Amino acid sequence: MRKEKLAKTNEEKILYLAKTRGFCAGVKNAIQTVEKLLDNSDEISYVRHEIVHNKHVIEELERKGVVFVEDIAVVPEGARLVFSAHGVSSSVEDEAKKKKLKITDATCPIVKKIHRLATLYSTKGFTMILIGHREHPEIIGTSGRIEGKYYIVENRRDVKKIIPEKSEKFVCLTQTTLSPEESEDIYLHLKKALGARLQPFNNNICYATRERQNAVKNLALKAQLIFVIGSRNSSNSRRLKEIAEKCGVQVFLIDDETAIRASSLKNIYRIVVTSGASAP
Ligand code: SF4
Repeated sequence: MRKEKLAKTNEEKILYLAKTRGFCAGVKNAIQTVEKLLDNSDEISYVRHEIVHNKHVIEELERKGVVFVEDIAVVPEGARLVFSAHGVSSSVEDEAKKKKLKITDATCPIVKKIHRLATLYSTKGFTMILIGHREHPEIIGTSGRIEGKYYIVENRRDVKKIIPEKSEKFVCLTQTTLSPEESEDIYLHLKKALGARLQPFNNNICYATRERQNAVKNLALKAQLIFVIGSRNSSNSRRLKEIAEKCGVQVFLIDDETAIRASSLKNIYRIVVTSGASAP
């Protein structure tokens, strides 16, 4: 933890900067992959989905000529297409092959490992349970790798929707950017509902997510106010905000300093700054 004295006032204002914050290795690799393509070729690079969930990164790459698309139907045949750090489903890969696109895969290796597990267990006849957010591209990509039956479980309510069939067996995987406590709580409810049919827990929350969450939890003890730098569509940034809020501290999720209102700093002397794994 780094402590910076901001100013001498009646009471000293102190800014605590989380030591573990910002870009993770998977995000850095994805951005560098696109930048290398820009440096080494004149062709337009299309990227399926935002390469990482950060407004500034996206705007900067768009300025350099990158085109972000959600649907690869709009990508011209034979063009260069990059898969974002969140990964894609098998059907997206198949569609890209049909269009003879030149693929560069910037999927984080940790997400790729989850894809392999999902494929492996589903081919072994397990029903897959994915703990995560059904609209998040990582869960869309992972569920799109599963040949057989699967459930997406976002919360305890979803657990109740699972009605096991005779001799059905289950394996559970998680999104990488969840809170460990919440995913373990959901797993315990699944275990209660499914008993021995459910395999031991595969908690796939990545190290980068855990480190950033632990750092903000520790610093929250010292803070009156926390700024989490990150975009609203960044899952790991939103988790940092939620975790800090649970510690009883006022928290703002901001893209940059322009979102800070002077009024929010009035009578505030201990401020923590951190940022999500997709924030520069
Ligand atoms: Fe990979 Fe974790 Fe970073 Fe996501 S947050 S890109 S899973 S290291």
